[in-house]
Amino acid sequence: MGNRRKTRHLRTVILSMAVVGLFLLCVSIFYQGLLEPISSVPAESGGASLSEAASQPESAPEQPPASSARQDETPSAAASGETPASSAPPAVSSEASPPESKAESEAPPPSSAAPVSSLPPVSVPEGDPYPELYVPKQEFIPHELGDKVVYLTFDDGPSNLTIPVLDVLDKYGIKATFFVVGKTSEEDKEALRQTVQRGHTLAVHTYTHEYSQIYASPEAYLSDFSKMRNLIYETTGVEPTIYRYAGGSVNSYNKATARAITDEMNRRGYVYYDWNVDSGDAQHGSTAESIYQNVISQTSKYEKAIVLMHNSSVKKDTLDQLPRIIEKLQEMGYRFAALDPTVQPINFRLPD
Ligand SMILES: [Zn+2]
Repeated sequence: MGNRRKTRHLRTVILSMAVVGLFLLCVSIFYQGLLEPISSVPAESGGASLSEAASQPESAPEQPPASSARQDETPSAAASGETPASSAPPAVSSEASPPESKAESEAPPPSSAAPVSSLPPVSVPEGDPYPELYVPKQEFIPHELGDKVVYLTFDDGPSNLTIPVLDVLDKYGIKATFFVVGKTSEEDKEALRQTVQRGHTLAVHTYTHEYSQIYASPEAYLSDFSKMRNLIYETTGVEPTIYRYAGGSVNSYNKATARAITDEMNRRGYVYYDWNVDSGDAQHGSTAESIYQNVISQTSKYEKAIVLMHNSSVKKDTLDQLPRIIEKLQEMGYRFAALDPTVQPINFRLPD
């Protein structure tokens, strides 16, 4: 009997232990269920900060190509870095620690890429009469052997023949350079704007084209140059960085001042371009045929040709010959490009 009571007691103990165990199990399951949503709250807020960390490595690989491809466009490089960041969140689900350490290891490139993509700061001396006439110096990219390239250049525009020239260039999908003079009619200003809008280089030639006046002294040259720079800048928003001397860098009016003027312009960061091919369209007695022959025969001697042409209102022959010239040069294997300050200039030898 005592045994049976013992057994019953034991059964009660086991049963109650089982009940307690079951209860504890239920409690632990309940708490786990509670804990999960609690722990997922910091996980989400952690996820938000993660999205920033993850978006950094996302944008970081995009930045170097953007800045190296367009060294002069810091703002757009920065913008392209921001664009992928906002579209990055889908990639956020990756683990927290690797992207974070990646973000840290890759954080320096964007900040160090900024000074590389932005050009060196220009320091303007105090009291300079032309503080706006300073542009950043850029490295020249050497011409590659075997690269047959023609830089068509048009002096003395804008004129009523500028838009027609632009139309021809557009037809062939090629870019050129326009060294312009101080003309301020609405038609001429529109020609300046179109030149920029259609992707060509707008550069300074001279405002007055008055040799005896502009080459009188470095100060006189700067005065004329600044007027032309201001007209271009105020009309198109373009800051011109390259120029061509009226009459070329070596002419009969600047023998005494060419060196001083060029030194001053170099100091301010500007690059000037002469030419190695002269269409002869400004010479007396030039004909449509002579313009064509001059360009083709002279260009054939060079892999890199800077071609002098004119775009004043009387240069109709040049305009008319342009399609023929372009087609022949393309047939000869040349590509066309616009000048920019990274193109190594062709310069005449200045008098000492
Ligand atoms: Zn000229």
